[in-house]
Amino acid sequence: MRRSSRRGAQNALTALAAAAITLALAGDAGAWCRTTTSKSFTPTLAKPCDDAGLPLYWSSRCVGYDVQQGASVQVDLATARATMAKAFAAWSSVDCPADAVTCAATDVGQGSPSIEAHDLGPVSCACAEYNQKGGNSNSIIFLDHGWFNCDGSPKTDADVTLALTTVTFNTDSGEIYDADMEINSLPTNAKITTTDPPAQVLYDLQSIVTHEAGHFLGLAHTQPTHPEATMFARYSQGETAMRVPSRDDACGICAAYPPKRVTVCDDQPRRGLTDVCGGDPPATGCHCEAPGAAGGGRGFGLAAIGALAALVTGVIARRRRRG
Ligand SMILES: [Zn+2]
Repeated sequence: MRRSSRRGAQNALTALAAAAITLALAGDAGAWCRTTTSKSFTPTLAKPCDDAGLPLYWSSRCVGYDVQQGASVQVDLATARATMAKAFAAWSSVDCPADAVTCAATDVGQGSPSIEAHDLGPVSCACAEYNQKGGNSNSIIFLDHGWFNCDGSPKTDADVTLALTTVTFNTDSGEIYDADMEINSLPTNAKITTTDPPAQVLYDLQSIVTHEAGHFLGLAHTQPTHPEATMFARYSQGETAMRVPSRDDACGICAAYPPKRVTVCDDQPRRGLTDVCGGDPPATGCHCEAPGAAGGGRGFGLAAIGALAALVTGVIARRRRRG
């Protein structure tokens, strides 16, 4: 059953690759997209990027993040922190072009994007949340117990989603206030690895979190003509290409954070770092001992090779909140 599905999806990928070549010859350049303030935008092949809302961005050139102290049964805290550092560094070290729109391959040497992420240390809170009145943390959270929200309600698409980054932003300006990254690490959902190279049947954590770091920094999925990009919407087991931002990714992050942007370096979360959940008074009582996943054992194979619908909705998902 799975093998036939895989073959069918492979055909879809082949068709997609052919389309990519056609568009490239037609002058396709920068295909990156930014997440915007638009209330509801669903990318399509005809309109892959939103051009109505304001693009999201961090105002400071420095952003703090925190790995949840429990990390995962699949990845210990030290390894998780080291992997996150590599993921964010990959974005901060790209070579920026003079023109991020045309994004010519030879257009380089303008410096690095004016954004960097700092590990502020582990936090105990294992909930993706934004406190409107209290402190916050931009958290990296492994959901070992199932793809659930902190209130125990199931998240959607547990069998097709590897990770989810939730961004809270100012609807009037696009300024990002908070970002939380959740990784679907229930072993029966996704077997994650940090080995190099990863086994073909396993999901490479560094690839996943580098993609999510792009969302964390305000990028959306790139156009489907660029399957080589870190911000491509799909990932398959054993692949490592997403670890290194492509030229298209570099143009996107440099457009969001030009090298010569004048800004300060303040890596503290909005209203200060809070280690525990429920920074808003009264405490929300949020906890993350979610029940085990119903229907555990469903793998990612089908999703990772999904056809166009999965491409649009995103195997590696993102979500936005409005601040
Ligand atoms: Zn994504």
